[in-house]
Amino acid sequence: MFDLKGRVAIVTGGNGGIGLGMARGLARAGARVVVAGRNEQKSSAAVRELKALGSDAFALAIDVTDEAAVQEMVDAAAQRCGRLDILVNNAGINIRKPAHELSLAEWKEVIETNLTSAFVCSRAVYPHLKHSGGGKIINIGSMLSIFGASFAPAYGASKGGLVQLTKSLAVAWAGDNIQVNAVLPGWIDTDLTKKAREQLQGLHERVLARTPAARWGAAADFEGIAVFLSSAASDFITGTAIPVDGGYSTQV
Ligand code: NDP
Repeated sequence: MFDLKGRVAIVTGGNGGIGLGMARGLARAGARVVVAGRNEQKSSAAVRELKALGSDAFALAIDVTDEAAVQEMVDAAAQRCGRLDILVNNAGINIRKPAHELSLAEWKEVIETNLTSAFVCSRAVYPHLKHSGGGKIINIGSMLSIFGASFAPAYGASKGGLVQLTKSLAVAWAGDNIQVNAVLPGWIDTDLTKKAREQLQGLHERVLARTPAARWGAAADFEGIAVFLSSAASDFITGTAIPVDGGYSTQV
């Protein structure tokens, strides 16, 4: 039920953090993983790791905000592998500023990287998934898909938008046997949050106090959900947003 042998998965930002965690899970379950990121050094290191796990992985350099480059990357992956089955829209950034200090250029950068890219990548893989007889798309949201935060107006808007995009794509493509779901990470120890810990005083302690599991999440916490949402085990699950947060979003 969880076997992904013969399946091909593109993971945007699959060269580090949560994306690499998901890529490891997919690789262990047998999928061929395409690591789609900007930093070629990080991507090469990720590919080496995934190959050691038994995946015939490879990297394609991509800036997900470049529409033409996304189309080229997706078509190149499909041509090299002969099929596509899974897309993880994980690439994301944050610019931490209150709304009155955020420039329009910064707003656009965050929205285009986090939200528009998920639309563009999903649209590009759609014909390939259809050709494979169905497929899986996983969008990476956030606790800020649910909650507000004073320091993240564009990030929160992008992550809230991803949940609604997930529902729209799920409804539109269910008839093609394509399931589209979102994962909402809690506070996870990655490069992204290292910066947040430096910028937001007391964050580390607040996260520990607020998270019922009493720890930060790790990239490894995303292996299981990646396999579940990419496999036959989730064939009747679509349009949902599943928190992976150690209980953070269930506690007042
Ligand atoms: P990282 O900074 O480790 O990962 C972000 C990834 O996105 C990198 O691999 C980066 O690749 C890629 N990326 C960013 N911009 C682009 C771009 N324009 N084109 C291609 N790739 C890009 O952080 P996380 O692992 O924490 O973040 C992964 C996702 O999880 C993000 O969507 C983030 O919003 C989300 N998330 C994280 C949480 C956390 O606590 N860590 C909580 C909630 C959500 P490269 O280095 O090659 O540019």
